[in-house]
Amino acid sequence: MSNDSIDFGFLADEVVKRVDILEEAEKQGLRFRRHGKSYFTLCPFHSERTPSFSINRNKKMFRCFACGKGGNVIVLLAALRGVSKGKVIYHYSKKLGLIGASWSRKQQQEIKQRTIQYEFKRKEESNFDEVFRFLCDQVHAYRRAMKQVKTIKDRNALQKFYQIYDQLPYYEYLLQDMSGDNGEDAQVEAYFVGEEKMDEWNSRINS
Ligand SMILES: [Zn+2]
Repeated sequence: MSNDSIDFGFLADEVVKRVDILEEAEKQGLRFRRHGKSYFTLCPFHSERTPSFSINRNKKMFRCFACGKGGNVIVLLAALRGVSKGKVIYHYSKKLGLIGASWSRKQQQEIKQRTIQYEFKRKEESNFDEVFRFLCDQVHAYRRAMKQVKTIKDRNALQKFYQIYDQLPYYEYLLQDMSGDNGEDAQVEAYFVGEEKMDEWNSRINS
């Protein structure tokens, strides 16, 4: 895998860190009252008369003390909008310029370091993370490759580049599909088709 690959955990980490959970909740129509360090409102996930739903801006977390629902901005927006967490991460990663951005060597080192330190493993989501990361890696690597294609003079090397490019729209499609609202079936299909395509691609490069 490319050294320039994007780690899904890193993307999630950056989204949580950089996106203001209170602001985003307000954009979704929630209106808060400040109480100490927390902001309270009626819980959007269950019916109630006194506000149990709170956001702690410093901790970047929300929690409902009545129904127990809680988590970071990704969990909150996925639940409020009724979309997958992957879609939220993908949307904000693009908005923050984390996907498709070109990094300096120093930035890449930093990302690598932080990726190693990162722990974003939820058992029920481990497969999703793996596939999502795979697709992010592919799309990112191909985009980088396409930037270099203009400097290549050798015909065979050019041909290889265009074979790679050939896959890019496909992986972009899978990534979109996976981060969409189609649920697990699409994710599983994306995984298997993605692996199959990867094998094909490997055998083409090696032949
Ligand atoms: Zn609640």
